[in-house]
Amino acid sequence: MIIVNNLKAILSELPAGIKLVCVSKNHSLNDILLIYNNGHKIFGENKVQELLDKHELLPKDIEWHFIGHLQTNKVKYIVPFVSLIHSVDSFTLLSEINRQAVKNGRIIDCLLQFHISEEETKYGLSFEEACEMLKFPSWHEIKNIRIKGVMGMATFTDNETRVSKEFKALHEIFIALKTGFFRDADEFKEISMGMSDDYRLAFKEGSTIVRIGTGIFGQRV
Ligand SMILES: *Cc1c(COP(=O)(O)O)cnc(C)c1O
Repeated sequence: MIIVNNLKAILSELPAGIKLVCVSKNHSLNDILLIYNNGHKIFGENKVQELLDKHELLPKDIEWHFIGHLQTNKVKYIVPFVSLIHSVDSFTLLSEINRQAVKNGRIIDCLLQFHISEEETKYGLSFEEACEMLKFPSWHEIKNIRIKGVMGMATFTDNETRVSKEFKALHEIFIALKTGFFRDADEFKEISMGMSDDYRLAFKEGSTIVRIGTGIFGQRV
């Protein structure tokens, strides 16, 4: 029961109030059920098709988080059941999520994803782009979305100083957005940062949600 032991070890380290998303991408239904049967029901996936397949076959009370790059034309497939979309990085995407949310009679919780790493390939907004988006008047017509906070991925490096700095930058973005645009929005309170290799650094910088895959399930195949 290595997987369950890993889960327990990580849960015992989690400071109070921090949510753990078990990132189950590339892992089997059986491995997910091991975690589920231990009472942990929050899982994250980064590909729409894989999420759909798993949602169909696994227990319906799983809280599914979408953590990968989301194409506008695939939004409609996940909106009927997804719990939190971590990876909103454009107004176009947000509008489409809203449109599908209206169709489904749902309010969809979302995080704004920021580019905080030095890597070119990672998706995400800059602080300036987010401000532009949130200043846009039609933003206020988007009623079936609840923006709950921010998400980011640090650079893949063992330079801890660098990683901490990037997490700190995300925390600062969170505070600036809270002050500038979400002052009265109690639900704007989440900072999703921290993965298997850097979650301890993320706690120190104020993370409220960590997304851990390898540290629980082992290497992806
Ligand atoms: C895969 C993934 C994770 C988990 O990564 P691990 O290193 O396996 O913990 C977290 N967040 C995102 C966005 C991912 O794609």
